[in-house]
Amino acid sequence: MDCLFCKMVNRDIEPDIVYEDDHVLAFNDINPQAPTHILIIPKKHIATLNDIEEGDLALVGRLQYTAARLARDLGFAEDGYRVVMNCNDHGGQSVYHVHMHLMGGRRFTWPAG
Ligand code: AMP
Ligand code: ZN
Repeated sequence: MDCLFCKMVNRDIEPDIVYEDDHVLAFNDINPQAPTHILIIPKKHIATLNDIEEGDLALVGRLQYTAARLARDLGFAEDGYRVVMNCNDHGGQSVYHVHMHLMGGRRFTWPAG
């Protein structure tokens, strides 16, 4: 399958890994938008949020849990941080393998652009 993030899971491309377990992989974004900008992905290929099924609920919870734990371990949980999942064209999704952006180390504005 021609999917950039699946290639990272398979190590056809070597990501800058921050965390890995049996179900998720977290690595530094190549174009960081904050002092810390990590992408957390399921190892299973799911193209978009729209494709998540009931059997994936624990996996999605694990993405969120991993984000919160990394924020704690990296020291910005108390200051706060931003997690984002972009979906499809209007959401600004550019890689069609579900991923959670974890950004920290600066103050974010709201609403998002
Ligand atoms: P999105 O626009 O929500 O689909 O996010 C995709 C993210 O993947 C962007 O923030 C990109 O900077 C990031 N990205 C693209 N290629 C790579 C790569 N080779 N390694 C790490 N991050 C990447
Ligand atoms: Zn994939």
